[in-house]
Amino acid sequence: MLRTPPTLRAPLMLPAALLLAAVQVAAAEPHSHGNAKLDIAVEPTKISIAFESPLDNLLGFERAPRTDRERQQADAMVAKFQAAQALFQIDPAAQCQLARAELTSAALKLGQPSGKAEQAGHADIDGSFEFNCADAAKAAYIEHGLFQFARLQRLEVQLATPKGQSKRSLKRPAGRIALGSR
Ligand SMILES: [Zn+2]
Repeated sequence: MLRTPPTLRAPLMLPAALLLAAVQVAAAEPHSHGNAKLDIAVEPTKISIAFESPLDNLLGFERAPRTDRERQQADAMVAKFQAAQALFQIDPAAQCQLARAELTSAALKLGQPSGKAEQAGHADIDGSFEFNCADAAKAAYIEHGLFQFARLQRLEVQLATPKGQSKRSLKRPAGRIALGSR
């Protein structure tokens, strides 16, 4: 009979903060166009969302905008992430309010440089969002609007809740992330 060695099970028991740190380390790996990562941490009165994507998924280019049209495109994309309460609609049962939305992209000169190594000719964008909630455990789902970006095909979601960690892969056009926290 096959048993999972304890060393393979261990990462599933890491606290949320360590899990997210491990994900950030993994971010140095070559990125893959069409794919993006979403890490969701549910705490009693807070839901944190970290998004990481090749810029190509959102803009179709991975460098500073060169034309007015590209600048408008980049500005419109940034505005969508800053309005994170519309992009990530958390189950109203949890009564969450957006508290913070931050974007980092060296190519777009957004935020503080992360010092993260990027492949030549490629560029990422990272988003960090915090919602304060009356009772985050009541959130059964988050509706996301990330597939409005036509080049994004798949979202790798890592979920950390008080009840444990899990992973799921969402393929276009799946817009609902079940939190499975109740
Ligand atoms: Zn790229």
